[in-house]
Amino acid sequence: MIELIDVYKVYKVGLHEVTALRGINLKIEDGEFVIVMGPSGSGKSTLLYLMGCLDKPTRGEVLIDGLNTSQLNDKQLTELRRDKIGFIFQQYYLIPTLTALENVELPMVFKGIPKVERVKRAKELLSLVGLGDKLNRKPNELSGGEQQRVAIARALANGPSILLCDEPTGNLDTKSGRVVMDIIKRLNDERGVTVVLATHDPSLKVYADRVITIRDGAIC
Ligand code: ATP
Ligand code: MG
Repeated sequence: MIELIDVYKVYKVGLHEVTALRGINLKIEDGEFVIVMGPSGSGKSTLLYLMGCLDKPTRGEVLIDGLNTSQLNDKQLTELRRDKIGFIFQQYYLIPTLTALENVELPMVFKGIPKVERVKRAKELLSLVGLGDKLNRKPNELSGGEQQRVAIARALANGPSILLCDEPTGNLDTKSGRVVMDIIKRLNDERGVTVVLATHDPSLKVYADRVITIRDGAIC
């Protein structure tokens, strides 16, 4: 479960302050598929970053499976991110010099999983996203949709229970976007992965159990 209690996020930009989130209260149950909608600058990415412990709230609490993340030290936060949370972004963020297989292996390298097991698991995950025949391609030898599928496989490497997706189809054409969304939906249906997905695209609402709209940093 993900729980946000009265969460504020204030960014400092030079002498100015930007309040990106103002008093967010939100509870997301295990296995839910939640879509976060809202105009540009409304705070969607900030919300996902805080849920993924990529950043800390200025005020308020973020709880992951009952763990209050503000009480964890940096090592515990790194472990929580590594083991429980998968993140995918609009820009994929694959390592350009590594093959698809090596990109998917990477989070398992950080976890200290032995090579043989890493390769086996990375192959399984790439097959799951339909790329079993493109293991040795570098990112620039793959289409955008294929790169996003590698990013999904990488996000799943350490078996997270939560998948946070920030505009995952934002750079994709309709058809590749649908392939990516169907994979995410299948992970939610078949593996019970909790999904929180930020998007501008209202046509994606059909995938969600619940749609949340934020405006100026508040849920409306
Ligand atoms: P988009 O749909 O364009 O991706 P968003 O809903 O994801 O927008 P955020 O990226 O969360 O919006 O931004 C919320 C507010 O916080 C905006 O006013 C933005 O300019 C500001 N902001 C976001 N990140 C930072 C940062 N690192 N430093 C300063 N201000 C930031
Ligand atoms: Mg954003």
